[in-house]
Amino acid sequence: MIFDVILNTLRTEGASAAYTQDDGQTFSYNELYKFVCNIYGYLLSKKTDGNVIVYGHKEVYMKACMLACSFAGITYIPVDSSTPEERVSDIINQAEPSLIFGDIETTFCKTVSSDEINRIMNRPVQTEINEISLKPDDICYMIFTSGSTGQPKGVKVTYSNLDSCIKWVKEITGSKKEVILNQANFSFDLSVADFYLSLVTGSEHFIIGDISGFDFSSIFRRLEKSGATIAVFTPSFADLLMLDRSFSAELLPKLHTILFCGEKLSTKTVQKLFRRFPDLKIINSYGPTECTFAVTSVLLTKDSVLEENISIGSPKKDVEIIICDENLSPLPDGETGEIMIAGASVADGYLNNYGRKAFIEYDGRKAYLTGDLAYRQKGLLYYKSRKDNQIKYKGYRIELTDIESNLLKIDSVEEACVVAKRNKNGDVTGIFGFVKIKENCSTDVQSIEKELSSKLPLYMCPKVRIINDIPLTANGKRDVKKLSEEYI
Ligand code: AMP
Repeated sequence: MIFDVILNTLRTEGASAAYTQDDGQTFSYNELYKFVCNIYGYLLSKKTDGNVIVYGHKEVYMKACMLACSFAGITYIPVDSSTPEERVSDIINQAEPSLIFGDIETTFCKTVSSDEINRIMNRPVQTEINEISLKPDDICYMIFTSGSTGQPKGVKVTYSNLDSCIKWVKEITGSKKEVILNQANFSFDLSVADFYLSLVTGSEHFIIGDISGFDFSSIFRRLEKSGATIAVFTPSFADLLMLDRSFSAELLPKLHTILFCGEKLSTKTVQKLFRRFPDLKIINSYGPTECTFAVTSVLLTKDSVLEENISIGSPKKDVEIIICDENLSPLPDGETGEIMIAGASVADGYLNNYGRKAFIEYDGRKAYLTGDLAYRQKGLLYYKSRKDNQIKYKGYRIELTDIESNLLKIDSVEEACVVAKRNKNGDVTGIFGFVKIKENCSTDVQSIEKELSSKLPLYMCPKVRIINDIPLTANGKRDVKKLSEEYI
């Protein structure tokens, strides 16, 4: 199991860099091992069980706490500190944690502040981690993702799911001892790949900080010194970095591989990357959080950039992908249907059985109906679109009905309809929330946007438009087409 490998890495990699943060601070494997042992000792001394929330924003303590939980056989739930309070409360109420690491104020359970965590981590080590006895089907972590009812839903990922995923990621990237760039917050499934790949290979996990301020020069100065060899990115993030000409092989001469996941990779992005990094290995991978990071992959060649639709590749060995119709019958090559994933990567379902319908049994194995439409040709899979209201915007997974439900929680809002604006390639370029205001209520766009931002993460907040009535189609459904054409 990978946690035996990880323990060995922590014990043997010594002074090698394990974790480098945004501010340039680096922690060695010796230090990380000490931090993990101390948190592990704390968990045992408090007889902690059940679920533990680890709250913060990519601090080294998050990595130490998440690992310590796993060594102690406790399920961890990473929550980024950019998550609004209301949403954090939802997560706490659903997950019922026995402990929270990080600066959250709650009366629900005991919390350990970041200052206290740092004190615990830096004590002399009293408890070493000697034996690990994890059951493959136990839950390693839960990641909360956008849910269609207006509350986030927790995906339960087992130790064996993770084991299978990381062995495969190591194989497809051919990783040895690397410097691995991290883009995503630890509360996103994308980060699972770089978080664990670094640990099983004794590599340096190099954290890229917040780039929302577009201060590329300071980020690039740090990247230049990183000696990065592998990156795990969403296509949107690579596009953002490529807005600056200096993002090229001159800046990162050792970068040999980018592993993409999370959204459609365009031909344009790949072409541009090959121009900037002529010798780069570009891997496109596909999969939802519900199937542990990714389940298909393909190594793109310079010929792939001639294809209009870039393939998402073929499945990992212990997973089967079935392109199926509505009766779950497999469709022949070339026909578009829903992607069903069966086998080792399929998670244990949602916490409290939220949306249970998507997790099913197929041919005696666990399977997950993704809601993604795709087709297969000459053994390779090609992603087409979603069959529902889930979108990807700037790499983030969002249910439009999650936004709608939260708009409707605002007192002055009578009706809400959320629409994604798309460009000619079908990519989402903006989100608009149309609201009808209750009679006799006086409010404005700014007030609604402000209240919504206390309920939803910023990346989910739409531009709000107040309208008199939500238009309807002839058969009484909300006329999304009309809204897009007339108001966006
Ligand atoms: P998440 O759970 O955040 O990883 O989002 C999973 C969803 O992202 C999938 O169900 C797809 O809709 C989309 N997705 C992930 N990878 C790809 C890809 N390589 N190409 C197209 N869509 C993708």
